[in-house]
Amino acid sequence: MSKKFIRQREQREKKRIARERVETLFTLAERVFPYEPELADRYVEIALAVQQKAKIRLPRKWKRRYCKRCHSFLVPGKNARVRLRSRPYPHVVIKCLNCGYIMRYPYLREKKRKRMEKA
Ligand SMILES: [Zn+2]
Repeated sequence: MSKKFIRQREQREKKRIARERVETLFTLAERVFPYEPELADRYVEIALAVQQKAKIRLPRKWKRRYCKRCHSFLVPGKNARVRLRSRPYPHVVIKCLNCGYIMRYPYLREKKRKRMEKA
């Protein structure tokens, strides 16, 4: 087995572990949020540090569950306001009620990206 091959396998393993950690941390954040929101925020910070270090993508499931500015764990109806808007394009507006930051996510982004990948 070549060294390069071993290295590649190590990298894959590292990323797999990082993904597991991110998943665990966000799951914990969700669980502790109702009674210890500050701890939830701490878990988000750690998850983001793991994600950046391993250079992995955040699972779609958790991507919109934290504030991009203050990194609070967001729970719609608790510390986040979620609204749907159709103009000027269909998008979701998520407002962090901790710092007031507004995030916008177009609906059609996933579709568009797939289309671009094909072309
Ligand atoms: Zn915020």
